[in-house]
Amino acid sequence: MDSRPSRSGKGRGNSNGNRSGGKRSYGGGGGNRRGSGGGRSNHNYIPLPADMMVHEGVALKTVEYKADSKFADWKINAKLKSAIKAAGWVYPTEIQEKSFEDIAAMKDVMGIATTGTGKTGAFLIPLIDALLESDKPFQTLVLAPTRELALQIEEEFRALTIGMKYNAITLIGGRNINTDIVNLKKRSYHLVVATPGRLKDLYQQGKIDLQEASVLVLDEFDRMLDMGFQKDVMWLADKIGERDQTLLFSATLDKSQQKLIDHFLTDPITVAVSSGQASAEHINQTVRYVAPDDKFDTLIEMLKEPEMKRVLIFAETKHRVKKVTKKLNQAGISADEIHGNKSQNYRQKALGAFKQGKIKALCATDVAARGLDIDDITHVINFEAPTDYDTYIHRVGRTGRAGKGGEAITLYDK
Ligand code: AMP
Repeated sequence: MDSRPSRSGKGRGNSNGNRSGGKRSYGGGGGNRRGSGGGRSNHNYIPLPADMMVHEGVALKTVEYKADSKFADWKINAKLKSAIKAAGWVYPTEIQEKSFEDIAAMKDVMGIATTGTGKTGAFLIPLIDALLESDKPFQTLVLAPTRELALQIEEEFRALTIGMKYNAITLIGGRNINTDIVNLKKRSYHLVVATPGRLKDLYQQGKIDLQEASVLVLDEFDRMLDMGFQKDVMWLADKIGERDQTLLFSATLDKSQQKLIDHFLTDPITVAVSSGQASAEHINQTVRYVAPDDKFDTLIEMLKEPEMKRVLIFAETKHRVKKVTKKLNQAGISADEIHGNKSQNYRQKALGAFKQGKIKALCATDVAARGLDIDDITHVINFEAPTDYDTYIHRVGRTGRAGKGGEAITLYDK
């Protein structure tokens, strides 16, 4: 118990690695993303070839991870054990079990794990334990690609620190920045979760001291790059400067990201997990060829099928998402929308209604849907095919979670 290293100082520097590189390239020409179908201009939009989106789902070989230990036997603070128990967690997930020692030893760790593998707990448990055991409080800053993911991290932190007096704050776009400013002044925080844009904004306004953070967590790092946050993340990490520890989680281990990863991490330990769903092997994937003018009618007919219980629909642009939602509602199908033009409040409400089964369909852009953790989505429908396979897999992976089979249908222009 007492062998934990001290986290109170901002001792270990981050070596200045190479700052360039790491550019992600997409398939499909890399042009501007524009929607297709439904009678609108579609120059620059090169959909993924249809045959890449057809696949007969194979029964999931549930590679159940057998944990070697129970949380009850872990050498962690008793208060944390109680909180974990109260959350209903008995056995650690693979990433939690395999990364604990190294994170607790304050090493830099790169975790290869997707949402659904328990990666949030993997970094929160050792950090909360360190807070409980150390004399001086320290601050962890988590950067996450999406607002929803950021909120989920804060929620999990609150659950795992129940009965403890730790402060957490989430700084995300779509909410009043003045409220953030007031809250930041009120007290100091043990956990700050932020999306890069809002954090940068607050820093530039002189409202947050990034030097306070001694641990930096980059969550869903590959998604942050996909979403164009590379520059902001590098800029922010630079402002944080010296830190005790950096943890990075990514669903993929992509060679093109290596230089960038080297920039953030010092002698990292890599922990990759076999569980989780980085592939869509178990999901039934089909393509329906539809004339552009018939797309809305086809979608409406599909949604009337009784097995379509909870359906996530993707379109390429905010405008298109809005239009699909409107058409569905006009046809008497309960649907709502999430995309960048909707306030955080609105999105949270729509998500809540979808999770509770109050609406049948949720229409989303890729950006809005990233990091979403919703169980029991029976179908994913691509109203428009995406332009790259990475995005496709990410969309399709919203169904068939928690070991269940799932259906993905892509409407393709005839
Ligand atoms: P994450 O991959 O961090 O988004 O976690 C996925 C889901 O699994 C969340 O709903 C967590 O609350 C839950 N979870 C994480 N760790 C455990 C565990 N050891 N036992 C049971 N559920 C867990």
